[in-house]
Order: sequence, then C-alpha cells, then structure tokens
Amino acid sequence: MAIPLVDLKAQYQSIKADIDAAVARVFENASYILGAEVETFERHFAHYCDTQHAIGVSSGTAALQLSLLACDIGKGDEVITTPFTFIATAAAISHVGAKPVFVDVDPRTYNIDPAKIEVAITLRTKAIMPVHLYGQPAEMDPIIEIARRHNLCIIEDACQAVGATYHGRKAGSLGDLACFSFYPPKNLGAAGDGGMVVTNDDELTDRIRKMRDHGRTSHYAHGLVGFTYRLDALQAAVLDVKLEHLDEWNEARRRHARTYDELLASTDLVLPYEAEGCRAVYHIYAVRTPRRDDVLAQLRAAGIGASIHYPLPVHRQPAYAHLGLGEGSYPIAETSMRSVLSLPIYPEITQQQIEQVVGTLAECVG
Ligand SMILES: *Cc1c(COP(=O)(O)O)cnc(C)c1O
Repeated sequence: MAIPLVDLKAQYQSIKADIDAAVARVFENASYILGAEVETFERHFAHYCDTQHAIGVSSGTAALQLSLLACDIGKGDEVITTPFTFIATAAAISHVGAKPVFVDVDPRTYNIDPAKIEVAITLRTKAIMPVHLYGQPAEMDPIIEIARRHNLCIIEDACQAVGATYHGRKAGSLGDLACFSFYPPKNLGAAGDGGMVVTNDDELTDRIRKMRDHGRTSHYAHGLVGFTYRLDALQAAVLDVKLEHLDEWNEARRRHARTYDELLASTDLVLPYEAEGCRAVYHIYAVRTPRRDDVLAQLRAAGIGASIHYPLPVHRQPAYAHLGLGEGSYPIAETSMRSVLSLPIYPEITQQQIEQVVGTLAECVG
C-alpha cells in the first residue's frame, strides 16, 4: 500500500459532517470575504495562541509581508533570518524592499543559531525573523534578549508551528508579531490558501487590518496604500472547525514521532532532536542520511511519499544569486540540507504504516 507524505483525505473523512456544515453555512449566508466567519476564527485563533489579536490574511507570505510593513521595514533595511527555510521567509523581506541577512543554524535543530546573530547586526538591521522549522520553536529567549539590546523587532515565522510551545509559551506569542500559514498540508490547513498574523500590539493590528483590505478606514476611505490580502469566509469556517481538533492532532503527531524515534533508534540515521523546553508539533519529521538521494528514490519506488524540506538553502536558490553568497557561506545549513529526508507524518497515520515506512527504510540504510 502506498503511503503519502500527508493524507488530507483521511483528515477530511474524520470531520466530514462538521466541515460540510460549515461550508454550507458560508454558501447559505453568501458572505464570502472577511465578515463574521473570519472574526470568529480570528477570536478563537488569538485565544489559542495566547495573544490579544489575530488578523486573518490570504497566506503565510502575506502575513510576513504585512508584518514587516507594519514595522516600517523597507528599502535600505536588513532583516536577519535563516537560510534553512522555505523561500517565502526571505521573499517577504525582499518584497518590502529590505535585504535578508542570513545566519547559520544549530546543527541539531536546524533553527537559527542565536550565538551567530549578533555579529550579523549592522546599523541597517531592523528585525529578526526566526523560523520555527518543522514545527519546533527556535531558541527564543536569547533571540529576545538580543532584540531588546539592539532595539530590533521580532517577527516569528511560525508557519510550520501552530500549537508548538517554548518553555510553556505558545509559538506566536514570543515575538512582537507572528505569522502563520494555512496552506493545506501545514499542521492546520485550509481548503486553499490562508494565513494569520498574531500580536499583542493594538497599533500594529490596526495597520495590518487596514493594509490587508486596500488600506480601508471605511468602505470608501483609504487611509493608506493597501493590498487584497484578506482571509475569506470559506477558509475561516473550515479552519475554525479544524482548530478544535488541533491539540489532539498535534499530540498524535508527537506520538508518531516517538514511534519513529524508537523504531529507527538502531539505524545510523540522524533523528530529529527536540531541544530543551520545546514541544514540537512535527509538521515535518526529518531524518538525515548521507545517502539521501538513493534512499529517497528507493522509498518513492516503494510507494512511500518521502520528500525533502528543502533541497537548497535560500541563499543558493537562483532567485537569490544576486546576493552573491557562494557555497560555504552557511556551512551547517548547507551540509545538513544535503542529507535531510522527510518521512510521512500526519495525525491519521497508523502504527502499521509507520512500520512499513521503517521496514523499507531499514532495507535501504541497513
Ligand atoms: C509555508 C511557509 C511559508 C509561506 O506560507 P504560504 O501560506 O504558502 O504563503 C512561509 N514560511 C514558512 C517557514 C513556511 O513553511
């Protein structure tokens, strides 16, 4: 039997009646953009993240871009982030006219290494954008301390980490602003694109609310130059149903991660490392093997939807060639990204499916 990387059909089947009712309600009301569905979901999501405000937007990338703009970051500014991420983290920085400045990662968590941040700070640095990679919070306490000392804003890229905690605090409640993506395969996925910004700051909230909707201050008055970056009612209704199940789903992901850990302990694969004080939500379960490309090909041939997150660090992508950052610029990110391999993980995966993945993997790596 084939095993996908994520199984969105299984998730739908488990909550079909509630999703269908929510979708039908949106069509009955025929109110499709923002409105009551979005407001309800925003309220529930802010509560879930332990923040005062949540602003629904059209994607995780839009959330990052609006957060940067709300902090007045633009041309001539620099934002410190990690090269070990999905390209959208850096793209959002580039889209506001600022420059992404990369800092290498911790070799065990693959998250930004706080010890390397300070040397990257210049007079142009305005913000730090840590990414909670694979669903594990970055090491935030030292990052917060550095940001305070240098008067920098922290924008969390929490796109992979809804519900993760760091010393008991929720991902999303750790920085000045935090951004989430509801791209369908994320651990809280919409039925299309969607995103969210959360914050405790009233003024930033006000600016982002306006910017996501053409800069509107009233229907015909546009107080600033804005965008069409709104969350729609259909996505909010679906997400609100799913949010109720998220803790249970994240717990299931953690259980599956422990099962993989145990079954793979005797192989020579490098397993995920959960840092002290972190509760990761395993949006992705990634191992490392020096024979990654062979192993991936064999798993795929056996019908297992293994994948790579991500094949290239951001500074090595053609889109960022103009930064002139050659091979060896961020050696830990570069070497670990040559050997990472993501295994199937989703709440509904069964013990038997995990055993099948491990069995096939064991044949490949011995
Ligand atoms: C998914 C993701 C994004 C972008 O989210 P979209 O909703 O696809 O725009 C940004 N950063 C990270 C780390 C992501 O995983």
